[in-house]
Amino acid sequence: MQKRAAPAQKAAKLERVQRLREPFVLEGQTIPAGQRRIVDIPLSMMSDHTPATVSVQVIHGKRDGPTVFISAAIHGDEVLGVEIIRRLGRLVALRRLSGTLLLVPIVNSFGFIGQSRYLPDRRDLNRSFPGNINGSLASRLAHLFLNNVVRRCDYGIDLHTAAIHRNNLPQARVDLKSKKARILAEAFEPPVILNASLREGSLRAAASELGIPVMVFEAGEALRFNEVAVRVGVAGIMKVLRHLKMVAKGTTRSANKKIRKTPVATKSSWIRATEGGLLRTRHDIGDYVREGDILGLISDPFGARETEVLATKDGLIISTSTIPLVNQGDAVFHIAFLSEAAASDASIEAIEDEIDSNPIFEYDEL
Ligand SMILES: [Zn+2]
Repeated sequence: MQKRAAPAQKAAKLERVQRLREPFVLEGQTIPAGQRRIVDIPLSMMSDHTPATVSVQVIHGKRDGPTVFISAAIHGDEVLGVEIIRRLGRLVALRRLSGTLLLVPIVNSFGFIGQSRYLPDRRDLNRSFPGNINGSLASRLAHLFLNNVVRRCDYGIDLHTAAIHRNNLPQARVDLKSKKARILAEAFEPPVILNASLREGSLRAAASELGIPVMVFEAGEALRFNEVAVRVGVAGIMKVLRHLKMVAKGTTRSANKKIRKTPVATKSSWIRATEGGLLRTRHDIGDYVREGDILGLISDPFGARETEVLATKDGLIISTSTIPLVNQGDAVFHIAFLSEAAASDASIEAIEDEIDSNPIFEYDEL
């Protein structure tokens, strides 16, 4: 008798849970609790009359919880975040989500198709917020994304890479003055957190005006995938979702994981090429360097003349130029000012060890 009643009880319980949570409505589409759907929000027509949309995957959990957006390719050539979101969406753990996730892998589809950071009007979307419905294409897209996606959320994570011809160590960027954004970044447990004050026109600044904390995850290069950067990104987002109690504990942390405190750099500085020429780098992202260390050498094509690029302060290299052709004044190494002890977990080897110590995520192969 008990056994026969079980399926009916289960169905009744499911019905109760579903009745508790209102469906999520986006662009006139209704997504019931416990379901996911891709919603295309129309933006405009491309010049050949192909419709341009912003595609949002809504994962509306059965249980109550916060609403969080994860966005990528606001700069169209920063494709690494698209892969992070693709993998994230396939994680089995999201089947039991509490709250709602809005996944937006490609915000700037114009730039994505054109393999460009910018929009066809040569504007930078991340300098165009909050945007205007009657403004430039970038301004309209900023307005659409802010009002249809960001405004609906309690938190956000925006995924970026370095600009073209540069490589970034996986890092979180937040305005440390915002306590809530800082907590997000700490929950992410990136190799390093960098203080980044809010820049006018950026998504972070516009979201902050609305009281929505947003952290930026920066890793890797434009137009490239990088397995370490992707894994740090997926793991970090899952840690944030766990912190927000949207996924169950134990979905991201292995039993023997060591406790580490993420280094926080309040200051950083770019080291610039002192003259033009061909740059050979001697250090890479994740290296700890001391003031006076030779970071690279700039030479003329015959090798007759050679100039050293020197570290101006002790710190962790968080970004490098990847193109050997430099002009005088080009930014070639970005150094976060940290003590060697604080930076010890941010080397590439330490990051790889950290990834290996985490359990392999279970992906949905359906
Ligand atoms: Zn970017």
